[in-house]
Amino acid sequence: MAVRSKENFLVFGAPRIEEDEIQELEAVMRSGWLGTGPRVAAFEHDFCRYRSAEHAVALSSCSAALHLSLLAAGIGSGDEVITTPLTFCATVNSIIHAGATPVLADIDPRTMNIDPEQVRALLTDRTRAIVPVHFAGRPCEMDPLMEMATQRGLKVIEDCAHAIETEYHGRSAGTFGDFGCFSFYVTKNIVTGEGGMVFTRREEDAARIKILGLHGMTKDAWKRFGDEGYKHYYVVAAGFKYNMMDLQAAIGLKQLEKVDAYWRRRQVIWNRYCEAFAELPLGLPAAPEANTRHAHHLFNVLVDSERCGISRDDFLNGMTAQGIGVGVHYLSLTEHPYYQETYGWKPEDTPHATRIGRQTVSLPISAKLSDRDVEDVIEAVCCVLPQRTADVA
Ligand SMILES: *Cc1c(COP(=O)(O)O)cnc(C)c1O
Repeated sequence: MAVRSKENFLVFGAPRIEEDEIQELEAVMRSGWLGTGPRVAAFEHDFCRYRSAEHAVALSSCSAALHLSLLAAGIGSGDEVITTPLTFCATVNSIIHAGATPVLADIDPRTMNIDPEQVRALLTDRTRAIVPVHFAGRPCEMDPLMEMATQRGLKVIEDCAHAIETEYHGRSAGTFGDFGCFSFYVTKNIVTGEGGMVFTRREEDAARIKILGLHGMTKDAWKRFGDEGYKHYYVVAAGFKYNMMDLQAAIGLKQLEKVDAYWRRRQVIWNRYCEAFAELPLGLPAAPEANTRHAHHLFNVLVDSERCGISRDDFLNGMTAQGIGVGVHYLSLTEHPYYQETYGWKPEDTPHATRIGRQTVSLPISAKLSDRDVEDVIEAVCCVLPQRTADVA
């Protein structure tokens, strides 16, 4: 018998949605203004304040935020941008869409974050930017990365899709680099359905991103159709349709009020998993580093088939058969045919990311999980791992 029945399948990464979000959404629907307007401005303001950032622009996704950050940074054809192979494809696709060449620096296998020494080894006179990803919500080593960037005049664009609550040495992720890009996709720490936000250090970068995110027009619709008389817009760049709607921001505003409560819930789940799995042959995440705050976005275990007696993919299928949704974050980017064909990347180029990508399994850690859900996940893990019948002396 499965731990959970088909009807009761635990969906991986399901967001926690409560009555206040539903009511706020209804209020927007009734207000008649669904598009980019006052709620987007309020969400930008509140999110900026929550992280003590300087400037924030809400966008349709983190992918859009990464793309526009690179453009605002002046990155383009002929430039090299260094990032990690253990990330979602959007990180590297945004570099490609900006016209630049992505370069992969391997990770530190303990933290699963980009290794500053690997970055240093890949610097060339064409390197223009670094895109660190705070994997699972653990902060990258920002001190050496920022020092390198300052020395070499590189832009830094932080991918904070996992890292809304992350802090490094008392400072919020997303405020170290020139740009910090956040995601409010349905599986992320707070959600707006689809949605993103970008922090910028400089006001002119925020203004540029706002224009590029709405067709390259100088005035947004909220101002054009307001009650102060008709205003013409002028197109000053070939922009994109990357704006966030008030419908999305309404959900985000209510989610943001609960961001710390949700974080605390995920921390409890994280600690419970660490305790429950301590004696199992699984690889567990390293403890958070001193003087940092881990966002606990993902809880990933490593399934080494030799040690565990089961392959990673059989473990994934086993969990699914037990009624528990699981994820893989991520196959190394070097495993995908497009990048192999276009850039000649090979799995052996970044051995740590490749190994972890082939062993990793993400277990559910959403704030939506009840205590019962968490115990079901633990029971399923124990059922799926082969019993060690005789410990060899
Ligand atoms: C989710 C994610 C993105 C993309 O976010 P969207 O808002 O879906 O565009 C980028 N980078 C990482 C590391 C992610 O996990």
